[in-house]
Amino acid sequence: MDPVVVLFITGLVVLIGYVSGIAISRGRAIDRLADATGATDADDVERRVREALDDAAAARWNAEQVNHDTGYLTELLTAGIVRLRDDLVVEFANEAAYAILERRSGSMVGRPALEAFVDTRVEGIARTAMEYGSANGELTVRSVVGATVTVRARRSPVSGVWLVMEDVSELRRLQRIRTEFIDNLSHELRTPITTISLLAETAARDAEAAPARLRDKISKIEIETGHLTQMVNELLDLSRIESGTVQLLLDDVDMVRLAQTTAERLRLFAERQGLRLRFDLPNQVLRVRGDEDRLGQVLINLLHNAVKFSPNGGDIVVGVREGDRDVVTWVRDPGIGVPAADRARIFERFYKVDRARVRGRGGTGLGLSIARHVVESHGGRIWVESTEGEGSTFSFTVPMAPAPSGTTAVRVEPRGPTLGPASEV
Ligand code: ADP
Repeated sequence: MDPVVVLFITGLVVLIGYVSGIAISRGRAIDRLADATGATDADDVERRVREALDDAAAARWNAEQVNHDTGYLTELLTAGIVRLRDDLVVEFANEAAYAILERRSGSMVGRPALEAFVDTRVEGIARTAMEYGSANGELTVRSVVGATVTVRARRSPVSGVWLVMEDVSELRRLQRIRTEFIDNLSHELRTPITTISLLAETAARDAEAAPARLRDKISKIEIETGHLTQMVNELLDLSRIESGTVQLLLDDVDMVRLAQTTAERLRLFAERQGLRLRFDLPNQVLRVRGDEDRLGQVLINLLHNAVKFSPNGGDIVVGVREGDRDVVTWVRDPGIGVPAADRARIFERFYKVDRARVRGRGGTGLGLSIARHVVESHGGRIWVESTEGEGSTFSFTVPMAPAPSGTTAVRVEPRGPTLGPASEV
């Protein structure tokens, strides 16, 4: 055969092979697309692929809009928002963050945390959150203004860490003013109240032969002055706790003896209000490691309330028992009880259950919060069990003393609405 013809036929075969190869692979690709999209024929495949592409473009557009809107929202916030990548490089920071940290706008993005914040404490908080999930802190910005800033850091469920910063300088300043005011006021009130108290005591002695009505009035003055003294002492305690000047003087304390002697001090006060005082004490020494005066104060606060909120008389019982690794002390009263909704809140500062139900028996609403602070700073806890109209039992625990030892002083950290530097997980 003519070599030209052979060449032509060979070329034709190769071409047919190539074209059918493409057709087969296209056919397979279309089959796969038909499978994936559930299409019935080639036209349907084309339609569905177009729809999928449109959907993808719409989703991309929506995502961009959400991103845009979130960015807009963060600029509306007065809180500083910073996002860090997993390697703690700043990915995003809103204008408020620059203002709070006193950094030049835009200067933090793309820099590692330490370099961006120029503050090891912020970097430390972010690092802790990256490791443990979350961390909080409060710090003073190193600058002329020296703003006080709270930083809350949370590891993102997606990646990286979010920081939320708030300038709380004004809040802290107002808190300081309030604490100083309470401190000054209580000091000023103390002297006249002590004088009235002494005068009432003297009057009570001098009026032994006076008519019953007069003696009754003098006794009421004594009771009310007692309330006033307690309120002023509580206000002073609060301001000391808040300013961080409270020290625990730890010693070995027998809770059984402490409960007995403290309650005895209030026996007269209780009996005057028609209440009997009873004890439920074990016949043994139950030692805790604590500050005797402060634990005595907890008991006084509980007993005072037990008397105050038991208007119909009955028995107040003071008990002590051995717990697992602690000693449980409790005060039971036959009083008005604490409604279930208020039980969790009565240990908050200034919280009082409906004022109307205890008219004339109002206090500062501080007794229980001080008690909680003292108990918790001993490593114990305090709680209430109560049935409305039938009475309440307030109990608190203090860890048992390990072995007899000497006195040590421990500084109690101020409690308040501040965020502690401790991390929480
Ligand atoms: P207060 O100075 O008002 O007694 P506390 O902090 O000691 O402040 O108590 C807070 C509130 O808890 C009280 O105002 C009262 O409503 C409620 N409460 C405390 N103890 C008792 C109790 N033994 N029985 C009933 N209510 C109580």
